[in-house]
Amino acid sequence: MTARILDGNKIRDEIMHELGGQIHELKAAGITPGLAAVLVGENPASQIYVRNKVKTCQSLGLYSEKIEWPADTTTERLLELVHELNARDEIDGILVQLPLPPQVDSKAVLEAIDPLKDVDGFHPVSVGNLVQGRPGLVPCTPAGIIEILRRSGIEMKGARAVVIGRSDIVGKPVAMLLLHNHATVTICHSRTRDLPAVAREGDILVAAMGRAAFVTADFIKPGATVIDVGINRLATEEEVRRIYHHPEGPLAKLREKGSVLVGDVQPEDAREKAGAFTPVPGGVGPLTIAMLMSNTVKAAKLRRGSRVAAKA
Ligand code: NAD
Repeated sequence: MTARILDGNKIRDEIMHELGGQIHELKAAGITPGLAAVLVGENPASQIYVRNKVKTCQSLGLYSEKIEWPADTTTERLLELVHELNARDEIDGILVQLPLPPQVDSKAVLEAIDPLKDVDGFHPVSVGNLVQGRPGLVPCTPAGIIEILRRSGIEMKGARAVVIGRSDIVGKPVAMLLLHNHATVTICHSRTRDLPAVAREGDILVAAMGRAAFVTADFIKPGATVIDVGINRLATEEEVRRIYHHPEGPLAKLREKGSVLVGDVQPEDAREKAGAFTPVPGGVGPLTIAMLMSNTVKAAKLRRGSRVAAKA
């Protein structure tokens, strides 16, 4: 059996197209949704993420602001900044790129964000709304995973879903969203006993642990839908040979590009055994930025939408 590939780029494009229409309507009502992205320090990966987020805002016609501060910024100064952004009407979403430098109290900064502007969905109020199924802003990667399943026609209702990983950013929120979509959900983690056997119960298997190609054929129920959230970079021939059964293609890529991306799932095994799976790259990754844009539009509607209705 060869599994169907769930194409994240295609689904991202669909969502962006739909958002374009919503942004057009909001603009016609005098509202341009706005995102402020705060970057502290010089982490190269964070710089790329923030640049891509701001670029995507621009391509959709959203207002965006990139605020870059030095690595020695204090918690107090960041709290002042967040309070300023909370108070500005043209800013609908505030994104503080993680990780913050070690001297900064990240929790305090994230908790200072107005929950109505919490487009990353990490504020305790957003988490509470998610758990209770109230309207609110949902973390981007988990929301993207649900979009992939929904738009690919994968039935969640009544399905057995197994999530490997219990982080606040991916594992826990995606488990809660699957539950709200009427799946029967099991959350696994590093202390789970006989992980492959538990994983094999999943009609839907979500791997979000950050361990290169950890999920192999013995974790996958034949025909299951496998969602691979992991992003791991392989930089040596030895690693590539250890992971791939047929390493020729990845080795050629390694020689050409200097590294190879692999998810938490062994891709050759997924292709053989799953019914459908998300590739890495090109699966879950593209959805994360799309859902950030979607949250920014949603935040504008939630906070300023009544004014549109009042004008109409
Ligand atoms: P994390 O390190 O915060 O959490 C990892 C979780 O996996 C933990 O709950 C841990 O218990 C579990 N785990 C670790 N080793 C395990 C093992 N051997 N067996 C079972 N469980 C184990 O990571 P995270 O922030 O949730 O991210 C997970 C992965 O997803 C990373 O590779 C990250 O880069 C990727 N990620 C991708 C996107 C995207 O846009 N595609 C977004 C966020 C995270």
